[in-house]
Amino acid sequence: MTPQLGFPWMATPKQRRAGSRVRAAAMPRMATGALRVPDPRVTPLTLPWVTPAGPQIFVHEGARQALERRFMAAFGGAVQLAITDNRRRMITHSKARGVLQVRVHMMFLGAPDRVLEALVAYVVDGDRQASQAIGEYIDENSHRIRASRPVPGPLHTRGEVHDLVEILGELNHEYFGGVLANVLITWGKKTRPASGRARRSIKLGSYSAIERLIRVHPVLDRAWVPRYFVKYIVFHELLHHVMPEARVGSRTLLHPPEFLRREREFRQYERAVAWECRHIDRLLRAR
Ligand SMILES: [Zn+2]
Repeated sequence: MTPQLGFPWMATPKQRRAGSRVRAAAMPRMATGALRVPDPRVTPLTLPWVTPAGPQIFVHEGARQALERRFMAAFGGAVQLAITDNRRRMITHSKARGVLQVRVHMMFLGAPDRVLEALVAYVVDGDRQASQAIGEYIDENSHRIRASRPVPGPLHTRGEVHDLVEILGELNHEYFGGVLANVLITWGKKTRPASGRARRSIKLGSYSAIERLIRVHPVLDRAWVPRYFVKYIVFHELLHHVMPEARVGSRTLLHPPEFLRREREFRQYERAVAWECRHIDRLLRAR
């Protein structure tokens, strides 16, 4: 029972561009289930991204309950709210024996008040006006919709020197309040420069939004590469994970001013940039 099937924002942005219709009715694809974990502020979390198999999501239980209470107040009865990591259906609801069952995408847990108000009005009162605010919010947060391409191959996170999962976990807690989820990381494939030659350029890190995967160049897995530098590279890629690209006219800015500002919040930023300048030749030559 999902009366909102005809709404354009039920489609992912990609589908919308392609003009395709949402197949939600034919194929109900709910997430494998919200994995509820204790409040991350009081309990250290184990890292969910260590296991690349299947979607697992963090749900901030306090935020879920707060939203559930909001639904209850508007509905005037029992409400069960589930948080999903669904790719296509951002909101579904139905009533069973007087209980309102609502499933919403996890992006709504961090939504501003006016969006939550619209969400509740939409679900409880069928307020179609509210769908505009919701649609805009989904658009702005489309980078948080789970990757549509499965991640290829096994992920290699533990290098000979640096452990990427450990680094990612530290960054998550130090800079993102421990709430980052669904981001994967791996050492990239080894490439060697032709013998005796240096590379012309090197991509030390990359982020694939479609896979939600950070790749770190294996040349950084060396004893002479300081950990803070690897951490800086991962931090940069994490910012790509949390910040959408900025559009300026028809151009896409990968590193808008806000991105650069946040990048400088990295505690060893100056040191890392200076290290890179001093060692770029060595990195280009490294085999
Ligand atoms: Zn970048």
